[in-house]
Amino acid sequence: MKIILLGAPGCGKGTQAARIVQETKLPHISTGDIFRDNIARKTELGLKVKSVIDGGDLCPDELTIAIVKDRIKEDDCKNGYLLDGFPRNLVQAKALDESDAPDIVIQLFVPFEQLERRLAGRRLCSKCRSSFNTADIGERTDCPKCGGELYIRGDDNVDSVRERLAVYEQQTAPLIDYYGKQGKLVSIDADKTREEVFESVLKVIK
Ligand code: AMP
Repeated sequence: MKIILLGAPGCGKGTQAARIVQETKLPHISTGDIFRDNIARKTELGLKVKSVIDGGDLCPDELTIAIVKDRIKEDDCKNGYLLDGFPRNLVQAKALDESDAPDIVIQLFVPFEQLERRLAGRRLCSKCRSSFNTADIGERTDCPKCGGELYIRGDDNVDSVRERLAVYEQQTAPLIDYYGKQGKLVSIDADKTREEVFESVLKVIK
């Protein structure tokens, strides 16, 4: 099965992706994770995209499309993929349709006013990769699950968050219509607990 997780920054794509992967064993391909890994390792790619990502804008299409096309050619994708954060605009969606079109697109919908709050309070665990919000865990710096160190993503600052949400509205939201017309879109109300959202996701993928 080839699945795309679509939704604005802060809608819970990463959290749901981790659960879907446990359930389906599909490879989780997050373009954001690929870029962040390259930035952390200071590769040529990482150095190229760092300032774009910190500013909340999109990395160049040509570069991003090439990364994804290469990745989905790998052996572990022969039974499908779970794409998280790609495509982000129509150019990318059309490129994917030409090479390896998705079977289903799951849109996680969260009201816009919630997203800024979710992103501003987001804390991530450097060890187990879980995501939390200060609304639930306060300002603690250790992971409630594994004790690992919590950190704030470089692009979760006020200015980048605003830019990322604007970019989503302008460039990514049109994909809802694009995949809707192809009959591939399923929208899920993601303004709920992660367990409730996952139950809805499971119904779709089963
Ligand atoms: P994410 O982790 O999906 O929120 O992505 C973090 C950042 O990586 C985005 O704000 C973009 O700067 C960059 N990025 C991730 N995926 C893409 C993509 N498909 N196209 C262009 N830029 C991307």
